[in-house]
Amino acid sequence: MDITLVQGDITEQPVDAVVNAANSSLMGGGGVDGAIHRAGGAEILQECRRLRDTSHPDGLPAGDAVATTAGRMPAAWVIHTVGPVYSTSEDRSATLASCYRRSLEVADGLNAAGVAFPAVSTGVYGWPMDDAARIAVRSVQESSTTVGEVRFVLFSPDAYEAFARALGHNTGPI
Ligand code: ADP
Repeated sequence: MDITLVQGDITEQPVDAVVNAANSSLMGGGGVDGAIHRAGGAEILQECRRLRDTSHPDGLPAGDAVATTAGRMPAAWVIHTVGPVYSTSEDRSATLASCYRRSLEVADGLNAAGVAFPAVSTGVYGWPMDDAARIAVRSVQESSTTVGEVRFVLFSPDAYEAFARALGHNTGPI
């Protein structure tokens, strides 16, 4: 599996599946969630409502993942995952790692060849970027997925650099 890093907007990525840092309600929100629903259109929320009415009446627990259409985005699917809220009193890293592992299991079920991830839990949910990047990279590397390319799409240069450090790249000038 290839791991690639891109600085940019996940809604523009021409991959099979983009991962959404959703919340448990699956009813949309701010940050990357809002951007994905805006870019993909109403069809995504319609499918999320259907999931709430059928398989997920209590919403999606943190660490789990579920797929819908990607609507008008270049991708075919959105894989919604719910990150844990960062806590200084409780270690929730296993739940954050589970977001990546479960998303890739869902991607395998869709036969997706390329999957793009945002930095789950690093926005409103407050996870420190360097730590989140290490957990993300490790979880993807340890997964037994059949996905060929995992692309981390980082919104800011700081996030990009944190993921590059986690991957062991040298990002500075030579
Ligand atoms: P969470 O609630 O899991 O913290 P957020 O959406 O608040 O989710 O933030 C997760 C990360 O996604 C943050 O690092 C944020 O900067 C980033 N982000 C926001 N919009 C986009 C986008 N369009 N593409 C990629 N990353 C994004």
